[in-house]
Amino acid sequence: MRDGSQVWNWSWIRPQFTQSEATEYTSCLNLVQNVVFGWEPDRWTWPSDPTGFFTVHSMKKLLSKSQVAHSLFILEWNNWVPLKTNIFAWKAEMDRASTLVGLTKRNVNAGSVVCRLCDEGEETSDHLLISCFYATMVWQFISNWCQIPPIYAFSVSDLLKVHKASILDRRKAKVLHAIILTTCWCIWKLRNELIFDNKSVNLSKIMEDIKALSYLWIKYRSPFSSISWKDWCNFSL
Ligand SMILES: [Zn+2]
Repeated sequence: MRDGSQVWNWSWIRPQFTQSEATEYTSCLNLVQNVVFGWEPDRWTWPSDPTGFFTVHSMKKLLSKSQVAHSLFILEWNNWVPLKTNIFAWKAEMDRASTLVGLTKRNVNAGSVVCRLCDEGEETSDHLLISCFYATMVWQFISNWCQIPPIYAFSVSDLLKVHKASILDRRKAKVLHAIILTTCWCIWKLRNELIFDNKSVNLSKIMEDIKALSYLWIKYRSPFSSISWKDWCNFSL
């Protein structure tokens, strides 16, 4: 600094620049020319928080403002399952289902937000439908039954895209999508029966319920009306 203005003293090893170095040099000068130097020691600062210090809260605020990737997901509605099933998946994908965490966010006092099924994670849509122990067992059953590779999902939107990545033809992929929607619905039903009716959790029963309910819906709502129960159980469409 000299008389309040910046003076650059460079000490170049080579006397001449190549064309690209000259361009980089000009870009560099353009970048630093508006930088105002002070006399205090240099320090790191986090501009998204008024204190200048990094906080998880400010990072969370920053991420929640950036919903671009999230809003790109468009739910594929499936008319082979009832509307209520589609609506539940749609709300769960947006994390607007009335889970314990969802209710608390809306200032509804739901007590503890710990998942009542596994008593471990917080009950968000992602937890209930994907990472909960019971959900993982159910998805394992679905992948075995539908003869597809194991289902790996990190979010509800991943779950609702599994049928697109499968090697099944278009109609069978739509059946798989219907089964996935039915499964989400059945897990939600199981959770509600546990919370509101105090019913015990029975994994074999939920798997039978998923098979039976999806059979009923596919048989009466899709072109697979002649499918037998035996073929359905073997996923031979
Ligand atoms: Zn759980």
